[in-house]
Amino acid sequence: MKIFDEIESEVQSYARSFPRIFTKARGEFLYDEDGVEYLDFLAGAGALNYGHNNPVFKEALLEYIAGDGVTHGLDMHTRAKGEFLQTLNEKILKPRGLSYMVQFTGPTGTNAVEAAMKLARNVTGRQNIISFTNGFHGVSLGALSATGNQHHRGAAGVQLGGSSRVPYDGYMGKDVDTTTYLDKVLSDPSSGIDKPAAVLVEPVQGEGGVNAASAQWLRNLEKVCKKHDILLIVDDIQAGCGRTGTFFSFEEAGIKPDIVTLSKSLSGYGLPLAVVLLRPELDEWKPGEHNGTFRGNNLAFLTAKIAIDHFWSDDSFSSAVKRKGAYVAKRLNTIADKFGDGNFSVRGRGMFQGLNCVSGELADKITSRCFKDNMIIETSGAEDQVIKIFCPLTISDANLKRGLDILENAVAEICANEDEMPSVTELFKVRDAS
Ligand SMILES: *Cc1c(COP(=O)(O)O)cnc(C)c1O
Repeated sequence: MKIFDEIESEVQSYARSFPRIFTKARGEFLYDEDGVEYLDFLAGAGALNYGHNNPVFKEALLEYIAGDGVTHGLDMHTRAKGEFLQTLNEKILKPRGLSYMVQFTGPTGTNAVEAAMKLARNVTGRQNIISFTNGFHGVSLGALSATGNQHHRGAAGVQLGGSSRVPYDGYMGKDVDTTTYLDKVLSDPSSGIDKPAAVLVEPVQGEGGVNAASAQWLRNLEKVCKKHDILLIVDDIQAGCGRTGTFFSFEEAGIKPDIVTLSKSLSGYGLPLAVVLLRPELDEWKPGEHNGTFRGNNLAFLTAKIAIDHFWSDDSFSSAVKRKGAYVAKRLNTIADKFGDGNFSVRGRGMFQGLNCVSGELADKITSRCFKDNMIIETSGAEDQVIKIFCPLTISDANLKRGLDILENAVAEICANEDEMPSVTELFKVRDAS
């Protein structure tokens, strides 16, 4: 179809890696217009933890639409919204000892981050937000200022202010606890780091290369925040909603953030929805201060409630994610040992795992090879050097094995040929000479 070349902007990205026209999707599969089946190990970049078009939601959605249920409700009270809040409170927040107010923002992750940053600044009267090396929080200006990625930052067109960066867990090697550095600069009035309103952190960095902070580091981070009277904002947009094996990615650490952002898989069905969870004492918003036309996506409220009811009423889903995650880790470690020449490493937590190939060029060759075997899988990290294993959490054991087999074959084939393959510089030399 030529139309994509004709009038769709060059800004497209995933479409370049997977140049097909997709027409159908179900569970862990996408289908193109020729009916070819693709195993989806990208899962909407984390928006499809429960798979594509899960029948758990579909019937209810069809019934709701057929019955003229409210679709767009601004921020008005609707039954769908009320039931979502009720379920979130009863089945997610209360059992975890969490007491939060829920703010509905515009339906993107980046808008929830904007709201969280604004709130922290307004409540504390301080401007600076501390975020971490390789962190990703979205591409609108506020969230972008807290994002590390140079490619994204470069597109801002204005100076990105109001935030400072400190090293994430592991950034200085595994023996350095970087929260000590944070504590030090916050304790030194002349460190040059303005006392921040908040610290903004992803417990597992998704776009930054699947870097998982340790539970101890997260606890230390919370301690440093408390000591200096700074708010702790957890951006759980990608790591949340079960990806690491628990609903929130910070549960294992036992911390209680002041503010949490959620989006991506919150609606369950891939429908746009984002919220900010905030400690009740922080709820100093004045009516409509942070608004947005699409804060009332009632179809998303409906499916978000069903997602919680269906997957989070007991711990069977959570156990299954942990079990599958352990399998993924085992397979990736084997792949790294067998083919990585001592250079590859495995990182992540639960079903949020990555294979670090060190070289972005190599990782790209491997994921492109996977696509030839009809698997959709992407890379992340500063050099796109980490292959991100990000299939739906609901994937069957057989298809999980199949995907990892495809990956293993691709790694084996690419790494076997790697030595004979001319390097990029050699390729350029040949081209210059001819
Ligand atoms: C994806 C993501 C965002 C931004 O969400 P959008 O819906 O793309 O705006 C923010 N934070 C994290 C951790 C993300 O993974």
